[in-house]
Amino acid sequence: MEKEHIIVGNWKMYKTEQETVEFLQTLAPLVAAVNARVYLAVPFTSIPTAVKVTEKTNIVIGAQNMNDATKGAFTGEIAGIMLKASGAEFVILGHSERRELFKEDDDFINRKVIRALKDDLQPILCIGETLDERELGKTEEVLARQLQKGLKKVSMEDVEKIIIAYEPVWAIGTGKTATPELAQEAHRFIRQTLGTLFSGKESKISLLYGGSVKPDNAALLLSQKDINGALVGGASLDPKSFADIINAC
Ligand code: PEP
Repeated sequence: MEKEHIIVGNWKMYKTEQETVEFLQTLAPLVAAVNARVYLAVPFTSIPTAVKVTEKTNIVIGAQNMNDATKGAFTGEIAGIMLKASGAEFVILGHSERRELFKEDDDFINRKVIRALKDDLQPILCIGETLDERELGKTEEVLARQLQKGLKKVSMEDVEKIIIAYEPVWAIGTGKTATPELAQEAHRFIRQTLGTLFSGKESKISLLYGGSVKPDNAALLLSQKDINGALVGGASLDPKSFADIINAC
């Protein structure tokens, strides 16, 4: 049976609480009848309100980051249990902006993955190569390392709960989308690597493509064999374009 597509919006540092309400009131009717799971990662301050507004809809609310500790003197950080108590159901981890701008490494990201699972939050682990790495022919090496380290100590039972998002760094926010063939090839490699790490589980794990997904390229990307959905940044900020991507499933 075909896996249900999952479309995840990542708002990054955009939208106040009031703007979140207005967006969700517009989006909800546009995606009420879709054949896909709709996830939205909003800023921390919008989570409780977004959860309330989407109560009777098919939209699932989550967060964009968390710390690996449950509490402590970590000014400005947030714990998984706090997100869970706010109503978040999933959390994006290892986004390339966190890796690049905030110097998060694979070990730290792995500790967050483990913590999110303990806190009953579904992790969306982002992986992907930079332009330099691709041009040096290191794409597969980078993806294999990010998977191996990012999923270290994850049990065979828990790995099915994790979503992997392949986001080539050169395609994020740049308008340069990977071709469907290139994206499929990377997803095929990711699934094969998951098979070597978690034998038999590879077909149960949802793989998303991320990187300048727009209404006009979504259908072709989503029709690729190993692509089970999309992680959408810029185009998720407008309810109409986000709905068009979801409706491309
Ligand atoms: C992202 O933020 O994960 C992303 C893929 O952004 P964009 O769609 O804007 O490239």
